[in-house]
Formats: sequence, C-alpha cells, structure tokens
Amino acid sequence: MTILDALIPPRGLKVLVTAGASGIGAGIARAFATAGAHVHVCDIDPAALDRLATRQQGITTSTADASVERDVALVFDDVRGTLGGLDVLVNNAGISGPTGPIESLEPAQWERTVAVNLNSQFLFARHAVPLLRQSRSSPCVIAMSSVAGRLGYPLRTPYAASKWAIVGLMKSLAIELGPAGVRVNAILPGPVAGERMDGVIAARAASLGQSVEATRDSYLRQSSMRRMVEVDDVAALALFLCAPGARNLSGQAISVDGNLEYL
Ligand code: NAD
Repeated sequence: MTILDALIPPRGLKVLVTAGASGIGAGIARAFATAGAHVHVCDIDPAALDRLATRQQGITTSTADASVERDVALVFDDVRGTLGGLDVLVNNAGISGPTGPIESLEPAQWERTVAVNLNSQFLFARHAVPLLRQSRSSPCVIAMSSVAGRLGYPLRTPYAASKWAIVGLMKSLAIELGPAGVRVNAILPGPVAGERMDGVIAARAASLGQSVEATRDSYLRQSSMRRMVEVDDVAALALFLCAPGARNLSGQAISVDGNLEYL
C-alpha cells in the first residue's frame, strides 16, 4: 500500500448513515457509495429517501424516526438483511431545535431536540456495537456533533447541550471499544451552506430583530476563513476517518469549520 492509498477507505465497507436522505448525511452516503462502499441510509422522510436512492445507485434505505427505539431496531433488521453486517456507523441525525432565550423555550422543544440529537446516537450505537465488534475492516463510529459542541451557543441552548453531550458519549465509547478494535470519533462542522442554515439564519434574524443579510454576514465574520462549510468538506473527513491512515485516530472531536472563533 502506498501512502496515497492510506487516504481513502477500502472498497466494500458496510456503512449505515442515519438521517441521510438529504443534507450532510446524503453527502456522506454518496461519498461512501462513490468510494465503493455498501451504504444503507435511514431517514424519517420516505420521499427524500426515494430521491436519494434514485440519484445514487446501490444505496438501500429504511424509513425510521431516529429517536424511536422500535424504529431503530427495525433499521438493524434491514441492515442485517441488506448489508449482512456493519463496519461503519455514521450517527448523523440531528435537528436544529428551537431558537430563543431559555425562558421562552418549551420543555417539549428541549426534549425533542435531545431525543433526536442525543438519544438517537445512543440507540444506534447500542444496536451497532455487536456488529462492529465482528467487523474485520477497521470498524468505526462517526458521531456528528457541531461547532456548538465546542463553543457556547446563545439562543440555541438545547442544540448546544445535545452536541456537547455527543462529544462525551464519543470519548467514553472510544475508551470502551478501543480494545475491541473499534474507533470512535466526532465531526464538528461549522455552519454548512444549504437549506438548513438558511432556516437557522432566518430564525436568528427574527429572534435578534435584525435583517437576514446582516445575520448571514455576521455568521461569515465568525469564521477565520470567512466562508461557510460545504457538505463535501464534511464528507471528505468522514471518508478519511475510515481510511487506513486514520487507524490510530480515535476519541477525537474534529472541527471542520474554517476556524469558527465564536458563535
Ligand atoms: P438537515 O436538517 O438537512 O436534515 C437531514 C435529514 O434529517 C433530513 O433528510 C430529515 O428528513 C432527517 N431527519 C430529521 N429528523 C429526523 C428523525 N427524527 N429521524 C430520522 N431522520 C430525521 O440536517 P443537516 O444540516 O444535514 O445536519 C446533519 C447533522 O449535521 C445534524 O446532526 C446537524 O446537527 C449536524 N450539523 C449541521 C450543520 C449545518 O450547518 N447544517 C452544522 C453543524 C452540525
């Protein structure tokens, strides 16, 4: 193997991406499929899953709410049937949650954010680990956190709390699973250009009583690189984390954010 081969994952990896019908998860699913992996994607939106499977050959799908244990168990029935095992779990599911001062937030909004962002990672990990332990292909878990899992994020407390908790889960699992040869890392993206950030910026502009343009501009100025992250920036890191060159990378919270200085 040359040093360049160490940068890309081996062909034939069995990969599960949660909430991967669109956005970052879809970018990661397409990247793994392009690299010759067998990819299974679950998502709450069946129409979006159909669009993904039509666009990218060879991706199998399940409709599931990532925060519901019964749905997660059914996804793993499908994974056993379609992939016949698992080498990589990409725990990607996550919602923005509410925007506003804490006294304006409803307990149900807090609970839903924690359920989708954090509980889903627990539910998928507990089903995946027995399969990952059997993998002979440098198995790993990739936990999608956020720059909000590294910095405080005013007006987005449920989101930030859930994303910090993911880092704690990842670091603990890395220690628990390392002796079995399973690596666990987290990716912390900064604001990713796309529909979701458009919604986040609009909600923040409304909450602060300022224009959408001014809010977008302030997001760009928070980053040393003065630009948003692209889905492919995140997908490229996900691929590398499963490549031979990453065999000693575990327990790491890795930012892809153009060096976001504050939130
Ligand atoms: P997104 O809002 O574009 O949604 C992606 C998919 O999640 C959609 O297909 C949607 O149907 C699905 N989904 C929503 N709720 C679900 C549920 N309960 N069960 C299953 N599927 C569900 O998300 P995104 O922007 O691609 O973000 C993906 C991950 O990256 C999230 O964990 C998010 O917190 C994180 N992240 C995103 C950004 C960003 O700027 N977009 C930045 C940092 C971190």
